[in-house]
Amino acid sequence: MAVEEYAETYPLEAADFLRYLPGTDCGRCGLASCGAFADGLVDKRCRGADCPELDGRLAEAVDAVLPLMPRILPYDQWMKTVEGPYRAYGEPGPDSPVLVTGNFVETAQVLEDIFLAAGARLHLVIADTHGYSIDNAVEERWFKAANIYAAMNTGGLTRLVRHTELLIPGLAERFRSDVQRVTRWRVEVGPVSGFEIPMYLAARG
Ligand code: SF4
Repeated sequence: MAVEEYAETYPLEAADFLRYLPGTDCGRCGLASCGAFADGLVDKRCRGADCPELDGRLAEAVDAVLPLMPRILPYDQWMKTVEGPYRAYGEPGPDSPVLVTGNFVETAQVLEDIFLAAGARLHLVIADTHGYSIDNAVEERWFKAANIYAAMNTGGLTRLVRHTELLIPGLAERFRSDVQRVTRWRVEVGPVSGFEIPMYLAARG
């Protein structure tokens, strides 16, 4: 019998949610602790809005991504590429964050679903990763600083923003200094999971 293979989409775990919860264990959600509430988010017994102590933007970010998980990516989608090198979400302004991703079609689609659900406002740079998802691009060394720099320039990003700060995926952390050296932008390492991005941005302000 053939075994069907699926790509990893890094659904959020309780520890991921816990980083954004108030951590006071106040019990106002009806549960004994923030940890129990985080478990409730993972198995969808709870919603972000059920925590009255949680910042409103964070609660909205949590509730936007919960229905999107888990996400199943079949193996036959691997290596298909999406057009780059730039996409705008939510009519971003010159101070909106700039995120970097690769050109694997499903990576772009998952991120788009997340950004639209969360009403995100950001610039997305889609670098050529040879159709690899971020984890595989890192492994195969296709997460290249030169390709990110090329995508930034081809997409006209420098005319759209007035800051010089890039957010790269947590999975690509080891390329941070390379990207910083080549682009001469400050590089921040973001979450491993795309599902965490709305919470990360809401907490960042
Ligand atoms: S109401 Fe919020 S802060 Fe209080 S225990 Fe529940 S999750 Fe934690």
